[in-house]
Amino acid sequence: MSKLFVQTLRDFPQDADAMSHKLLVRAGYIKKIANGIYSYLPLMQRVLKKVEQITREELNKAGAQELLMPFVQPAELWQKSGRWGAYGKELLRMKDRHDVELCLGPTHEEIITFIADGILTSYRQLPVNLYQFQLKFRDEIRPRFGLLRGREFIMKDGYSFHTSQKSLEEEYENMARAYKRIFERCGLETKMVQSDSGAIGGKVSHEFMVLTKTQTGEDDVFYCNCCDYSANSNHAYSILPDKETIAPFDKMTEVHTPDVKTIKDLAEFLNINENNILKSVMYIVDSKPVLVMIRGDKEVEETKLLNALSGQEIRKATDDEVFEFTGLMPGFMSYLGLEGKIKILFDKSAEGMKNFVIGANKKDYHITGVNFDKNIEFVDISLVKEGELCPVCSKPLSVTRGIEVGNIFQLGTKYSEPMEAYYTDENGQNKPYIMGCYGIGITRTAAAAIEKHHDDFGIIWPLAIAPYHCVVVPVNIQDEAQKKVAYDVYNKLLEKGVEVVLDDREDRAGVKFKDADLIGFPFRITAGKTVNDGLVEFKIRSTGEVLTLTPDDAVQKVVDEVSKL
Ligand code: ATP
Ligand code: MG
Repeated sequence: MSKLFVQTLRDFPQDADAMSHKLLVRAGYIKKIANGIYSYLPLMQRVLKKVEQITREELNKAGAQELLMPFVQPAELWQKSGRWGAYGKELLRMKDRHDVELCLGPTHEEIITFIADGILTSYRQLPVNLYQFQLKFRDEIRPRFGLLRGREFIMKDGYSFHTSQKSLEEEYENMARAYKRIFERCGLETKMVQSDSGAIGGKVSHEFMVLTKTQTGEDDVFYCNCCDYSANSNHAYSILPDKETIAPFDKMTEVHTPDVKTIKDLAEFLNINENNILKSVMYIVDSKPVLVMIRGDKEVEETKLLNALSGQEIRKATDDEVFEFTGLMPGFMSYLGLEGKIKILFDKSAEGMKNFVIGANKKDYHITGVNFDKNIEFVDISLVKEGELCPVCSKPLSVTRGIEVGNIFQLGTKYSEPMEAYYTDENGQNKPYIMGCYGIGITRTAAAAIEKHHDDFGIIWPLAIAPYHCVVVPVNIQDEAQKKVAYDVYNKLLEKGVEVVLDDREDRAGVKFKDADLIGFPFRITAGKTVNDGLVEFKIRSTGEVLTLTPDDAVQKVVDEVSKL
């Protein structure tokens, strides 16, 4: 311990927002270098290597092969796939001294497709699954929560190549099983949920979520208590329990609604429910205005909206923009009168509305008793709410927060087709590879383990990914008897292959115990006064359990636990 490159802090850092971030800094695992960019100090490096090794073992067992691709990538390949323009600002672009455009790899679909092309030439060579551990750089708009959402981070990314959708689906299942084992071995229970495919592309995808109660989980996961439906909120669907809503207005009337600012105000003013009001919300999607009509008690899910429009960038319109495009103040607009002038989308939640209320496109006025024309098309672009019904079995859905530690995608030919990466099939025909891709956030997984396993005193590492299995603490290093027992225990553990630290510092016992808890060694063997009776104290970090044992028994206990890994 006197040599270990670690500096624990008395207090939590000021700028940390997640528990894992606070603890990693305070316990001396990471050091921030720039926004969203960290150094992994020796303790952290040991943790990351363990997560990596578990991942490697399980993937190799599942038949995948490891390679290593470059961090810096040529624009040329991204232009070929069509993503150079499509990826947005997360892609950090640069030029070299010859004015050649390059980028820092945020993901490696283009590179792997380029590699496969020319090597995997025949159907006889397929399927193949290749993976790497590599740094990624994404100029995230909101890097936060320390390692949970960095700009630079370590990912395991894997890619598979197939001749048929069936073969892809088999490998997808194979990877799903491997992922479950990987996270289990890391001490993390995960839920596999349906998700949106985002910038990676493809149709079918799932995320592996560590469910958390804290706000640190960045995703909401909706799940059914009765069947196994579960999905990220950006891809969750539901049946509304109150699908049909009929407002008490039997003919269309313009109503004066002064000082009514919100949907809630309007519902109260007219003495109706919020689900009797058709709300208008304006977005700017790829610099163009889009008006969304949605039931008053529902909210827009921006990813779903973006997908419905095949857009890339989305934000809410400002009041000034609303005025610019409609000549109106927000609060009183509606689709009536704006048709043909601006893109309008109707959310599915509105489908069952009758005699409803909308803005009159006139300040301080609404229209009651409106009904839709027959030819209106509805798309599902709303956020699911807890209590709405499962789309599979119609039972109520629940919601929880989650941290996405991994995901799997069925890409199909999204990259092979534009990049002209072909193999020849049985009939000598050129065909694009059918591809899958599979990611695990190595740094995020380690941080998620802390989110799940910690207490007021510090980190509680699952044994499999702890930087060391055990710490040996002589209470008073000046006491010859204590010192001798501590060194004996330490040497015996080393001999048996246990990863162990001896706290040989001159500090008070209290300081050493505090550090041991903070750093999160799974086992602590303490040599104090009882060494004179031939006994040491054995403490289990996760349960707080303390046993008094002979030094040999304490050593054996650690050895037993480690051998179960
Ligand atoms: P997210 O929705 O959280 O941004 P993503 O869908 O962009 O993730 P992928 O591109 O598929 O994720 O990356 C695979 C894995 O890499 C994710 O499951 C996650 O564990 C990890 N990951 C992605 N972005 C980050 C980040 N900014 N910091 C740390 N890990 C990340
Ligand atoms: Mg992302």
